[in-house]
Amino acid sequence: MHIEFFGAAGEVTGSCHVLRVGGKTVLLDCGLIQGSRKDEARNRGPFPFDAERVDAVVLSHAHLDHCGRLPLLVRRGFRGPIFAHQASCELATILLADAAKLEERDAEYLTRKLKKKVKPLFTLAQGEQVIRQMRGVKYRERIEVVPGVSVRFRDAGHILGSCAVEVWVQEDSVEKKIVFSGDLGQYDTPILKDPEPIDSADAVLMESTYGNRRHRERDATVEEIGEIIARAGSHKGNILIPAFAIGRTQEVLYQLGRHFDEWGLDRFKIFLDSPMAIETSKVYWEYPHLYDEEATRLRQENGGMPLLPNLNLSRSSEDSMAINRISSGAIVIAGSGMCNGGRIVHHLKHNLGNERHQVIIVGYQAYGSLGRKLVDGHETVRIHGMHVPVKAQVHTVGGLSAHGDQDDLARWYECMENRPPVYLVHGESDSQQAFAEYLHDRNGAKVHQPAPGDRLELL
Ligand SMILES: [Zn+2]
Repeated sequence: MHIEFFGAAGEVTGSCHVLRVGGKTVLLDCGLIQGSRKDEARNRGPFPFDAERVDAVVLSHAHLDHCGRLPLLVRRGFRGPIFAHQASCELATILLADAAKLEERDAEYLTRKLKKKVKPLFTLAQGEQVIRQMRGVKYRERIEVVPGVSVRFRDAGHILGSCAVEVWVQEDSVEKKIVFSGDLGQYDTPILKDPEPIDSADAVLMESTYGNRRHRERDATVEEIGEIIARAGSHKGNILIPAFAIGRTQEVLYQLGRHFDEWGLDRFKIFLDSPMAIETSKVYWEYPHLYDEEATRLRQENGGMPLLPNLNLSRSSEDSMAINRISSGAIVIAGSGMCNGGRIVHHLKHNLGNERHQVIIVGYQAYGSLGRKLVDGHETVRIHGMHVPVKAQVHTVGGLSAHGDQDDLARWYECMENRPPVYLVHGESDSQQAFAEYLHDRNGAKVHQPAPGDRLELL
């Protein structure tokens, strides 16, 4: 029995690892590669396994870089069950439908432009087939996914329904326990509970997105957002917040609601300009039993979460285009989180060229993405084939990240008293290198940085 590292080995997106036990094949995640067009082209490449012979998938959470190649797996013949937390099943339904529509639209555009048939990476029908194969699981419920492999989901505190997965594998009366971290959240994240402690493992596959970083204190970040909003008020500009539809959007809304009076938010019109984020926010609403104490209290006290009386939900594209006519006093929360597509792109095109406006980056930006170019201070960026000067002020506020930092990651690992060997995944190489040294110095932990195709023998 062994694990082969396939996706998110030595990089951040495309999470996918292949577990082979007693003739069975189980995938841990099957995520999309995201970033530059060149990187994303790799999504169309072959899998290093036969999709028809995969017996089951265990999905850590609903982000596309973890579930976004499932429709492709289905297209290539996978018909087994996909185990995920119940909330992940609902969120994945929304995300995959949205991604499929974008794929279909892109393919149509390219077909016209190149004058030859371009197929979408996957279709809406294939996304729907994925949902039919999903099995909703609760936290802390141990279930057998195939003979010889059972799993238990633990709260990873990253987004609603996110899981670190305990995996027990058995072959020839030998049992080993692997822990797959999925994506780990920060401790004390609003709305969500903290990452749940896991007491032991024989080996850990661990994310390392921010293994080389310490986030600012969340409170300082929230304070900074308050200051940016105050400044925008006095400059009479707009504020654009690119946000992932799951997680960051809900936290931004939560923070705006909590500080509504303090930040003088009644001076602004707030837009949630994303049909998808409107839908995912509804799912957050339906799972109050997964909230932390403060969110539970606020929901009970207000009969709802902190209220934003001036929140506008922009569903149609006409609603979205209408926002472009506002030259000041708008706060626009829109996707995609890395500015690679979605409605945030046309807002950036309209606002980047004017120094009165502000952009607040609240999430991770992969190399090659438009968001990363803004973070890295490019003076001009290319949008819809045009060179757009970046005169607006770009603020990167790291403290709201959905990912734990070096200390959060170490704290989660150190719950495992036997200090098992670690296999770092889901991180760029400098981040992994720094985290490997940090973890080794603190705990004497054996830390590996597997490359794609490397194997971890479990027997
Ligand atoms: Zn994630």
